[in-house]
Amino acid sequence: MATDYDAPRKQDEDLKQDSLDELKAHTGAGRSDSVDVDEAEAADGFELPGADLSDVELSVAVIPAQDDEFTCGSCFLVHHRSQLAYEEDGMPICTECAS
Ligand SMILES: [Zn+2]
Repeated sequence: MATDYDAPRKQDEDLKQDSLDELKAHTGAGRSDSVDVDEAEAADGFELPGADLSDVELSVAVIPAQDDEFTCGSCFLVHHRSQLAYEEDGMPICTECAS
């Protein structure tokens, strides 16, 4: 009976070790593969939204600022009046751009 227990147990350990090694090999290969794909997809995905962003920035600059806010003529961000440094050709310049 003892040999009956030993034989299958040893086989199981061998199988476990084999599948572990296989898992490691597959996981390692799968990781590098997916990273390559992700980087390629990310590069492709960044180009189109990046082109659209220029339009978004333009439309943001057109939005009129609130009474106590102004749109900086340099960075086109809306700032509170307390951050107005000076006006250049009628365009308000924020303190961040002035410094
Ligand atoms: Zn600014």
